[in-house]
Amino acid sequence: MSEVKKSLNFLEQIIEEDLAKGLDKSKLKFRFPPEPNGYLHIGHAASICLNFGLGIKYNAPVNLRFDDTNPVKEEQEYVDSIKNDIQWLGFNWAEELYSSDYFQQLYDWAIMMIKNGKAFVDDQTSEQIAEQKGTPTKPGSNSPFRDRLVSENLDLFEKMKNGAFDEGTHVLRAKIDMSSPNMLMRDPVMYRILKKAHHRTGEDWKIYPMYDWTHGESDYIEQISHSLCTLEFKHHRELYDWFLDQVYDPEKLRPKQREFARRNLSYTVMSKRKLLELVESGYVNGWDDPRMPTISGLRRRGYTPRSIREFSDSAGIAKRDNVTDLALLEFHIRNELNKTAPRVMAVLDPVKLVITNYPEGKEEMLTGENNPEDADAGFRTIPFSRELYIEREDFREVANKKFFRLKLGKEVRLKNAYIIKAESVDKDADGTIKVIYCTYDEDSKSGSGTEASQRKVKGTIHWVSSKHALKSEVRLYDRLFTDEAPDAHKERGFKEFINPDSLKVIPDAYVEPSLATAQKGDSFQFQRLGYFNVDKDASDDRLVFNRTVALRDSWAKIEQRK
Ligand code: ATP
Ligand code: MG
Repeated sequence: MSEVKKSLNFLEQIIEEDLAKGLDKSKLKFRFPPEPNGYLHIGHAASICLNFGLGIKYNAPVNLRFDDTNPVKEEQEYVDSIKNDIQWLGFNWAEELYSSDYFQQLYDWAIMMIKNGKAFVDDQTSEQIAEQKGTPTKPGSNSPFRDRLVSENLDLFEKMKNGAFDEGTHVLRAKIDMSSPNMLMRDPVMYRILKKAHHRTGEDWKIYPMYDWTHGESDYIEQISHSLCTLEFKHHRELYDWFLDQVYDPEKLRPKQREFARRNLSYTVMSKRKLLELVESGYVNGWDDPRMPTISGLRRRGYTPRSIREFSDSAGIAKRDNVTDLALLEFHIRNELNKTAPRVMAVLDPVKLVITNYPEGKEEMLTGENNPEDADAGFRTIPFSRELYIEREDFREVANKKFFRLKLGKEVRLKNAYIIKAESVDKDADGTIKVIYCTYDEDSKSGSGTEASQRKVKGTIHWVSSKHALKSEVRLYDRLFTDEAPDAHKERGFKEFINPDSLKVIPDAYVEPSLATAQKGDSFQFQRLGYFNVDKDASDDRLVFNRTVALRDSWAKIEQRK
């Protein structure tokens, strides 16, 4: 653990100021408020790590509040996945709550506002209302229904609630100021009619409250001290405060909305709506496709909770919009797996290699270190025999001096095994190499302590014994989009930038037999290739691996260049 005291982010500074001004520390309370209309993504992880991180730091409760005011898009499946993902990330909420639990309270407050002359029923269509909105530089005009009698408003609002009117015919609006420079203050809609079943309240309600009306009041009901949201809500803060003024009891804590920049990640999109589009149009195989920036996709890909938390911390909380480099996320998982993932050998593009002076029928069990980064990881045995597979790209008939792999007439070490020398090749009619014939130096076995075993040769390559290797499927992933910011193009939709080669399936890779006992989700370093984990599609007789991340540390290079 680093002893360096981390500097406070600007939200922590705000909290510290509030405490210094007399806010009781025991009053601190936070919430994470997802709308259950999709799966959580790595952007949500920023908000989760922020809110739950503050909860841990200040020993304060953090509520999980489902912001479920739109029955059209919300489903129980999403609620379940969200809970699962937050727990998987390692956080515990104080209470599981739903905005829909507050529908009655919100309704009662709306009645109170009508009675106080602060809300009215508007019979106009949404188009008519939009026409009267004005522009940022031109004031809007009052609705002809704005000065309705309180009794008439109460009657109409009750009828709206009971389903007497069709969708789109009436709304309840706050009566604020049609000339406010903040367009959101121009008599915003509080309720609309929606005749849809809700995932929790069923058919009880024919009207549903709007986000702005619901969010602040929910914070107030739960007595959230700091309601942290993303920057696009900055203009909403004035309305948040106005709505609180309508119900605020000075005996109680008054929630405070503060905004931070969204987490954007390069080469992907982050909105649930867009991710849903990718799922529904079949560009990916579901929300947990390992190419998706969802928590479930990252989990399936081999990311760990810790790597995501550390990524979130290191990317930080910003005041202004920015894009975080995907390489930073990869850096964190690589860093962790380097310490924890057992090393094994796998050959993805096999070519046969025969050691002509190794006795036919002979087999040896060689020893390999499980993890040189972890002294306690121990050793495994690796079978060796006369016929092996190596990576096709690790051999050339002729090559220049910089090619530190196998070439005709030259030597290379087989990892954990012997030094071999390529003698000749056998080719197909089209020139493709079928077999590489080699000889080995019998005394050069790794770790045997002989002089020959200490002999230095330029390269070391990985291999598997063809008789012992297990055939398995390996899935290689590339970024899902070819553009760094696929949704930043005004004229072209984000789907135009989908990378057609984001998935490459290798049906017949070979892995060493120690992997026979690998379980779904287990991670390994395939030496010289990268980190891989067992996919959930694996079965008893067929292993399937995902490449989590390649070995090469492009982030470190980026950092060095700065
Ligand atoms: P999306 O556009 O992906 O649907 P959203 O903001 O509508 O996102 P919500 O379910 O409303 O999704 O978000 C729950 C919480 O997570 C909110 O407080 C929101 O501000 C935060 N959040 C969502 N996306 C990000 C992001 N990219 N970076 C940081 N916080 C985010
Ligand atoms: Mg939302």
